[in-house]
Amino acid sequence: MSGLTDSEDDGLPYVCLACETALEVQHHNCPVCGSFDIRCSKWIRE
Ligand SMILES: [Zn+2]
Repeated sequence: MSGLTDSEDDGLPYVCLACETALEVQHHNCPVCGSFDIRCSKWIRE
């Protein structure tokens, strides 16, 4: 287990794509802006 670092995963696992609010749990829609574009943050890592 070397080479890859998962240390970026220490934060909130979900993110709203509309307002970029990080979320601890997956909501049906964003509690901040109401968007339904909640994604797992690891999916949108570049
Ligand atoms: Zn939002």
